[in-house]
Amino acid sequence: MSKRDYYDVLGVSRTASEEEIKKAYKKLAKKYHPDLNPDSKTAEEKFKEVNEAYEVLSDPEKRARYDQFGHAGTNGDFGGFGGFGGQGDFGGFGDIFDMFFGGGFGGGFGGGSHRPSPQRGADLRLDLSISFEEAAFGVEKDVEIPRLENCDVCGGSGAEPGTQPIKCPVCGGSGKVRNTQSTPFGQFQTVKTCHRCHGQGTYIEKACKHCGGSGRVKKTRKIHVKIPAGVDNDSRLRIAHEGEAGTLGGPSGDLYVYITVRPHSIFKRENDDVICEFPLTFVQAALGCEVEVPTLDGRVKLTIPEGTQTGTSFRLRGRGITKLRGYGRGDQHVKVKVVTPTKLTEEQKRILREFESKTTADVHQKGEKDKGKGFFNKMKDAFMG
Ligand SMILES: [Zn+2]
Ligand SMILES: [Zn+2]
Repeated sequence: MSKRDYYDVLGVSRTASEEEIKKAYKKLAKKYHPDLNPDSKTAEEKFKEVNEAYEVLSDPEKRARYDQFGHAGTNGDFGGFGGFGGQGDFGGFGDIFDMFFGGGFGGGFGGGSHRPSPQRGADLRLDLSISFEEAAFGVEKDVEIPRLENCDVCGGSGAEPGTQPIKCPVCGGSGKVRNTQSTPFGQFQTVKTCHRCHGQGTYIEKACKHCGGSGRVKKTRKIHVKIPAGVDNDSRLRIAHEGEAGTLGGPSGDLYVYITVRPHSIFKRENDDVICEFPLTFVQAALGCEVEVPTLDGRVKLTIPEGTQTGTSFRLRGRGITKLRGYGRGDQHVKVKVVTPTKLTEEQKRILREFESKTTADVHQKGEKDKGKGFFNKMKDAFMG
């Protein structure tokens, strides 16, 4: 029951002007707004508290009563403050914009009397698979998305064409019903959401047959998606306003495109670089040669120097993936792999044996990389100590 002082809640003095109170409230309501603090119980509590304080302090009559009687002057009889946020019926950001820019201040915050405002439409997810090349250079695609759109028969109002939503006969269009009660402190008004129009202030007598009065219909829509060059597996693109239509004229949600890049048969990707393995015969590797290697741009000439070892990488500058952020492209790395010949003819074998008889000493005794100590010497060290 330890209720905080309303002036403390808003952080203003007891002599604060209406303007100061409004300013303090705006700041705090924005800070603790549920849309900006999803899943925060503390923020939700604070938001409730701030709204309750503002509800009282912004109304000169209620403020006077509060100054005189404290919380006792407000208990129970103000339409049950506190009923806030329980329904989770805060729309999207529509609420916060209405609140701060729409002039919808005053009223509306008491127990359950929150007026349903336009709701933002739902966000949609689309999974899209593209090729390696499409990811490297970007691509534009037309995709089909089933989504809820504004009913074009009734224009989203939900009322049968030719009829209009009528002003709610119960609340007279305010969306709220007031009840006057007499109490020991004088007459108090309680404000409740109108049960007939659910606070909308309008009431549909004849529902649109096309959408059944919801104002939205399911439609499959073709959307042009531009996928920028350089996207990678699990990239996510946001396409603003291509989600589902909002309700009551609220903004549409967004469309999120989740990209999957199909693997390539010869290229692999490493950040913005393309890696590929390229086979060489051992004669090509030994003598050096000029080869044509595949790149994203087609075949490119590459000079293999004499005496190239298997596993050596050659860099082709600027033949990689277009950089998603920044300029230019990554590189391609061509990793050569010397392939041991199989199925040799007798003639070939004879030549190789002859070759071997002339080169064994050279290859085995003198290691290429470790100067002076060949493989066999190292093996001798390792096994015989
Ligand atoms: Zn309709
Ligand atoms: Zn009503």
